[in-house]
Amino acid sequence: MPALEDSIRFVKGVGPKKAALLEKLHIRTLRDALETYPRDYEDRTVLTRIADIDEDGKYAIRAVVGTEPKVNRIRKGLTLVKCTIFDETGSLHVTWFNNPYAAALVRVGQEYLFYGRVQLSGRMPMLVSPQAEKIAAGDEHPGRIVPVYPLTAGLTQRDLARVTEAALDAVPGDWPDPLPEVLRAKYDLPDAADALAAIHRPQTTADVQQARRRMVFEELFLLCCGLQQLKERRRADHGFVFSAAGLADYLAALPFAPTGAQRRAIDEIAADCASGRPMNRLVQGDVGSGKTVVAAALCALAAQNGYQAAFMAPTEILAAQHAETLAPLLEKLGVTCTLLTGSMGAAQKRAALAAIESGQAQVVVGTHALIQQSVSFHRLGAVVADEQHRFGVAQRAALAGKGEAPHVLVMSATPIPRTLALIMYGDLDVSVLDELPPGRQPVETYAVGQNMRRRITAFIDKQIEEGGQVYVVCPLVEEGELELKSAEQHAVDLQKALPHRRVAVLHGRMKNADKERVMQAFTAKEYDILVATTVIEVGVDVPNANLMVVEDADRFGLSQLHQLRGRVGRGKRQSYCIFFGADKGQTARERLKILCKTNDGFEVARADLAQRGPGDFFGRRQHGLPALHVADLAADLALMQHAREEAEQILAADPQLDGYPELRARVHRMFEERDDEAFN
Ligand code: ADP
Ligand code: MG
Repeated sequence: MPALEDSIRFVKGVGPKKAALLEKLHIRTLRDALETYPRDYEDRTVLTRIADIDEDGKYAIRAVVGTEPKVNRIRKGLTLVKCTIFDETGSLHVTWFNNPYAAALVRVGQEYLFYGRVQLSGRMPMLVSPQAEKIAAGDEHPGRIVPVYPLTAGLTQRDLARVTEAALDAVPGDWPDPLPEVLRAKYDLPDAADALAAIHRPQTTADVQQARRRMVFEELFLLCCGLQQLKERRRADHGFVFSAAGLADYLAALPFAPTGAQRRAIDEIAADCASGRPMNRLVQGDVGSGKTVVAAALCALAAQNGYQAAFMAPTEILAAQHAETLAPLLEKLGVTCTLLTGSMGAAQKRAALAAIESGQAQVVVGTHALIQQSVSFHRLGAVVADEQHRFGVAQRAALAGKGEAPHVLVMSATPIPRTLALIMYGDLDVSVLDELPPGRQPVETYAVGQNMRRRITAFIDKQIEEGGQVYVVCPLVEEGELELKSAEQHAVDLQKALPHRRVAVLHGRMKNADKERVMQAFTAKEYDILVATTVIEVGVDVPNANLMVVEDADRFGLSQLHQLRGRVGRGKRQSYCIFFGADKGQTARERLKILCKTNDGFEVARADLAQRGPGDFFGRRQHGLPALHVADLAADLALMQHAREEAEQILAADPQLDGYPELRARVHRMFEERDDEAFN
């Protein structure tokens, strides 16, 4: 009897080659197979009569083979097998491409359930390369609901079905269920084993729905339990006590008066840091709302109280830029600021590491690699993580529960609905920056088509003439997308059109050091135009840049475009944003128009959510939560609410989940899954 922890190598038909391919799908053990859910289902229980087929599409057809299948070799490398099938309403041609075995598959006069694509458009209607299953005598309801699994080249649905079947067979009768019985009863959810069986071997579509609902609830419930425990654990920790005495000095050192919202957030941070418990706070504010100086206040406080602070950015470019902003500000307070990035020279890096270890480096700016083990701090008192979605729960958890835990501040520009925020940031307190610095003029935004190309090029020239700088953003071009221009090509073309302007290019495949050099040169006004892929999306701050042109803007999400637009409108000059793509259909045009109408990130997010649906809105990696397999964070809002309430209740009565060993183990496992990518 195989066990769930066994390797899939023990499944019949899975050799080393298949195993390697399955590993690509992260399937190593039977349990992995069990937890790899179908991405879709084909409902072959709904049969269509031949006469009722009225448009191209996939159909399940119960029919008898009418003519002997004939094999035709058309030319080298192309074989066709043809026959006709019929039911009581009509007949249909069937063709299999390059599948000579198909001829042996079906027999004249025998009834099958065919499943495949029907093309009506050709000379005659045709069923193309269908699967055929023999119908057993007396079977009144042939056809199944067939799961469709994610695949990788070299694997077939049959391979996946085979390992999943083996995995289902290995599920023991007393399979433990992490969901307490009472909750299953209350929300009418099937138990774990039944749900898994229904997901991989469904009888009806209703089964699938039920099972999915259960899995979503389970996942959210585990997540909420974990976040809640994390919050409690950190609350019980002892926190460093920072006196706020130096705060006045910090505020006086700022080159501008903080906004009311910034003041409030800074005060909340100071209060947290004086409370004796570790701070866990999220600062949420639209692009340009001034999150950096709020975070810098925490760094200053830490240093003034004799502790070190780590300021983490999602990219090296941003880290370098933050260091440049922070260093002069902190210097006025006599606080040292050190940059640590992967692309630094070895000697420089060694010096930086030594300064960090000795405590000489008071504020350290770098990427998320800063909290990895190789960097040892003398006395780390505060951690700032810029752009929350790259700093996941796992990383937050890594900082927690170490006795004296540092104060943690995460910053996010992604506006999200409240229910969702309560889950995603369930372990954090929140400060909102709902006010932009004074004097900001809204960015004038236009959506245009290719017919405006020359006028826009002239407009770019004019802005530079008047002393401004320009960003041109191109989408990432994947192989085979010939109609889109890469950033490199675009830079070449633009340079040709504007030979007297200085054009730089920045893209993801460049070395970090090169990126940094280009960015620095652009900041220093050594270039007029920066053509880039979205590496500039988060955070870069060049106040003199006042025009942003986005190529193929229809390829970006609205919130992403809003973030991009936030890169301009930071100085005194009137700023502009131009989106190409308005000529790519009505949907594209309407989406881009939303941005032309408002500069408010929350409004953009709302419209984006309404237009695109939640799946796209969040993407998969954006939320920084442990990988969720089934739950769609926005679509399952109602269920999410319940999951959260139930998690709170259970934990209130049993904080360590002593009465729920399976639940405890599963929560633990969920939060163990480290997302190392997020460490950059
Ligand atoms: P974000 O919230 O997008 O991270 P930043 O912290 O990068 O925003 O700030 C955007 C710009 O606004 C920076 O150039 C910063 O110097 C400036 N800024 C921040 N706060 C104020 C303020 N209170 N008054 C004037 N300018 C400010
Ligand atoms: Mg920022």
